[in-house]
Amino acid sequence: MELTVLGRSPASPNPGEACAGYLVASNGSRILLDIGPGVVAQLVGRHHPSELAAVVVSHMHADHMLDLVTLRYVFPWLARPKEERLRVIMPPGSADQMLDLARGVGSSRHFEDIFRMSEHDGSSTFSIGPMSLTPVQTQHYIPCWGFRIEADGRRLAYTADTAPCGGLTDLADAPDLLLSEATLRSLDEDATPPEPRGHLLPAEAGTAARDGGSRGLMLTHLPVNGDGSWATTQALETFGAEVQLAAPGRTYEI
Ligand SMILES: [Zn+2]
Ligand SMILES: [Zn+2]
Repeated sequence: MELTVLGRSPASPNPGEACAGYLVASNGSRILLDIGPGVVAQLVGRHHPSELAAVVVSHMHADHMLDLVTLRYVFPWLARPKEERLRVIMPPGSADQMLDLARGVGSSRHFEDIFRMSEHDGSSTFSIGPMSLTPVQTQHYIPCWGFRIEADGRRLAYTADTAPCGGLTDLADAPDLLLSEATLRSLDEDATPPEPRGHLLPAEAGTAARDGGSRGLMLTHLPVNGDGSWATTQALETFGAEVQLAAPGRTYEI
């Protein structure tokens, strides 16, 4: 299984970088996991979207899904035959928001003429080519699901956006790689009690990875100015082993 980082920015983009977007590939089958602003420009330098088996969206925050609007324009404007439409798997309960977004950009059919959209059910494993994906709900400001992705006897766990929570514990349970958000530079940047938190410090990603027995840890979805060592240093202290920083454009063997 291969992971290619198309974007690692948090909602406020790092200069020249896309927001959340990851290509996961196995045996010639490709998934685009999240599609935030800037991701499509990175994608089309590598693949036409018709080479994707599916797009999978973790949650309805703009930094994870807004480039679905852009992706539509890569296809001719005419509706595609139903069997040729790109599979797009959305979080539960998102259909009305997608219709509002389509109308907001000019046509209620903006997505449905080109995409075959469906929602996962929040917990059941589904297959895309040789890959099986299990959604795991995380604690975030709105409903959000990370994914456990398995293929070739290997496992990638993607936290999407999350605070420390049971879902994070499940995801960090012995994957070959935990691809974890690490958005916070300090707890002051998260919601204040009694409002529930929604993001992680790098040290918290390291703790979850260590406690769960993750074999590898890669930090993403974080502000990077320079080499990002502020984050990997923190996470190394709790994880106790090498911590990678997601590098835009780079492909990793899992
Ligand atoms: Zn979010
Ligand atoms: Zn986010």
